[in-house]
Amino acid sequence: MSLCTFTYTKSDSYRSRRGRITTPHGVVETPAFIFCATKGSLKSLTMEQVRATGAQIILSNTYHLMINPGSKLIETMGGLHKFMDWNGPLFTDSGGFQIFSLGHGSVSSEIKGSRQQVVKKTLLKVTEEGATFRSYVDGSHYCLSPETSITTQLELGADLIVVLDECTPFHLSELETAQSMRRSHRWADRSLAEFSRHEAQSRGLYGIIQGGIWPHLRTESADYVNGQPFFGHAIGGSLGSSKNQMYEIVDYTTQLLSPDRPVHLLGIGGIEDIFCGVKYGIDTFDCVHPTRIARHGGALVPPELNPSKGTASPRDHLNLRNACYTNDQMPIDPECPCTTCAAVSRSYLHYLLKANELSAFSYITIHNMTFMASLMKRIRHALDEGTFDELASQWHLGTTS
Ligand SMILES: [Zn+2]
Repeated sequence: MSLCTFTYTKSDSYRSRRGRITTPHGVVETPAFIFCATKGSLKSLTMEQVRATGAQIILSNTYHLMINPGSKLIETMGGLHKFMDWNGPLFTDSGGFQIFSLGHGSVSSEIKGSRQQVVKKTLLKVTEEGATFRSYVDGSHYCLSPETSITTQLELGADLIVVLDECTPFHLSELETAQSMRRSHRWADRSLAEFSRHEAQSRGLYGIIQGGIWPHLRTESADYVNGQPFFGHAIGGSLGSSKNQMYEIVDYTTQLLSPDRPVHLLGIGGIEDIFCGVKYGIDTFDCVHPTRIARHGGALVPPELNPSKGTASPRDHLNLRNACYTNDQMPIDPECPCTTCAAVSRSYLHYLLKANELSAFSYITIHNMTFMASLMKRIRHALDEGTFDELASQWHLGTTS
């Protein structure tokens, strides 16, 4: 039986490192971006197209899959890898983020539109046992506990899985954050016990560091995870109200973590966030941003092609819905190796978006995924060559150095 392993080399630049996570379904060169196949699909793409973008690893959401079609069905179909035709490394989250974010009233951005009013009411109660919620599909009741989260993720067959934690909103007091963090630690103990009961040593289990914006709570939480036999560590909980506060918390927290384990930054993955995260020693990121903006006509571009660079609110993408692309014969990025940039112009993509043609989403998603996979490759190369700081200074869109 092959086990998940992690090896790394410290880079010259601050705390950054170049590593490799080996799973039963292949290798992830780090730092890496994990693409979100929320419901077991990269929206608008076939898995053949996903593989062609250079994506190394994808993440699916336990919450959605346990409700529909159900982890038991997926297990019967041979596991999520086989069910969705992905044969590479697969990460699942615990399901907690969606349930708690709905319960706290800030509707998860993955679930919106016409179902918003229904899903807002789905969290019924949270106790020491776990969270009880109602399915947004058929109204049936579910209990997501530390044990059922682990069992569900193992039924799905993911390589890298995460303990259930209590996700708290930003406005909680220090005392409330401390109480919630300690409950998450008790849940992590139960997750470890369930994980070991299943003898699932071929999978990698991540513990989560909580503690919100309070350094002494982050320290307590880091001490807890370092002392437990987790494969990896994920930084969760509130990261503050601004980018600068988030970077401070990430900087502080990564210094506390045992260096021999991979560190994942949950749900964060803007380009600036990636450069800062890598500098502080983050190994993997996940974020819906590249695939979500694609569905709104947003195409990621390097700084030299970005007309908003240097403006008061720089973006990382072109909005191809804008009229200025009507007659633009250029591909999104002439240097991009993707099949979209090899084939079609900004003008054509603008036309498809305006005409509500579904292929627009596939074309732009393919570009954005290739862009992110290529960017991470450049970052890894720069870490190998000792030129990461130079690359970061070329790419930074914002103010953080
Ligand atoms: Zn492209």
